[in-house]
Amino acid sequence: MEITFLGTSSGVPTRTRNVSSVALRLPQRKEIWLFDCGEATQHQLLRSDLRTSQIRRIFITHMHGDHIFGLMGLLASCGLAGTVSQIDVYGPPTLDRYIASCLRWSVMRLPYKLQVHTVEPGEVFSDGEFTVTCRLLHHRVPAFGYRVTEGDRPGRFHVEKAQALGIPFGPLYGQLKQGKTITLEDGRTFDGRDFCDPPQRGRSMVYCTDTVFCDSAVELAQQADVLIHEATFSHQEANLAFARLHSTSTMAAQVAAFAQVKLLFLTHFSARYAPGNPVQVEDLLAEAQAIFPNTRLAQDFLHYAIPRDGQICAEMPPSDSPAAANIDTLEATLEPLEAQTVAADAKNAPAIAINRATRQQMQQKLGIDATTANAILERRRQQKFTCLGELERLYPQVDWSALNVLF
Ligand SMILES: [Zn+2]
Ligand SMILES: [Zn+2]
Repeated sequence: MEITFLGTSSGVPTRTRNVSSVALRLPQRKEIWLFDCGEATQHQLLRSDLRTSQIRRIFITHMHGDHIFGLMGLLASCGLAGTVSQIDVYGPPTLDRYIASCLRWSVMRLPYKLQVHTVEPGEVFSDGEFTVTCRLLHHRVPAFGYRVTEGDRPGRFHVEKAQALGIPFGPLYGQLKQGKTITLEDGRTFDGRDFCDPPQRGRSMVYCTDTVFCDSAVELAQQADVLIHEATFSHQEANLAFARLHSTSTMAAQVAAFAQVKLLFLTHFSARYAPGNPVQVEDLLAEAQAIFPNTRLAQDFLHYAIPRDGQICAEMPPSDSPAAANIDTLEATLEPLEAQTVAADAKNAPAIAINRATRQQMQQKLGIDATTANAILERRRQQKFTCLGELERLYPQVDWSALNVLF
């Protein structure tokens, strides 16, 4: 389960943050599930290393424009690409009418099956491997939080142990794998649980936006590996948060603490906290961390692979490190305005390029040896690179400046 943030701004896009969308990539089934689809989400997908053709399900939280205005464009482009056979869209009542109206009045015909599901609190989707549930949050219009839960996996079966005890091959091994007790013809009895490691706990991700603090978010997020929660406002703007039914940084942290999640990502920031303003997103992070220390800031294109063992993944730089924050600091320091956007794009292009490159390309274009290329590939396999600073820190011997020109 790999999360990529495609939009982390509330209401309107800023130069460095697009409006809401989060991609969940499920590598084992080559599928991407999107959560919200703000305007220009398809442009963000093109700038990421995700493949639009893998989008299989789209979950919409609510009908506000910053969460759905990119939906129709993306669905249309998926049709033109001709590589999609079915997309299922889930969302609140009126989403089906919105989609039907757009299709009708823009005379759009999709060459694939589009299934629109109106969700209600409870189970939304389940196929044995993954279950998606939702709860009604507390916003100005009906808004749903979603939880994706992966099923537990059976622990490893120690076949060599069974062989050593002389248990004959065949159906008995299947029964042992299932943890059942078997009796051999010679009268010996074995408990299958003695031959299997404990089951691997399935992972979970919860997405709560838009909402003011509410109990249903706490219930939905119980013990989740990752909670992505909106933090539109800083703590000192709590009055605004209550008036507009959005969350402050401290409300998000309280949900995380009450739900005992492992990791909290703050997202959906008001543009008033953009670089150069008196209060910035780093201040929201500090407020949240005072309540829930394991909090990080989401930023566009930030990638996080949820580890299987329930540990916090240490591969990603912490959100307040220079590497992760470099887009924001760039923007705060560079002039003129046009140069800022170009510089931010160019600065992180190498990270995107290296996430796509083959080993041969790396060796040729960067002039590095096979050992270094393999080390980079191995690191990439564990965790995609999110910014140039991370690459520079890990592999200072490589001249990264050539990458964005060459790939
Ligand atoms: Zn919103
Ligand atoms: Zn909203």
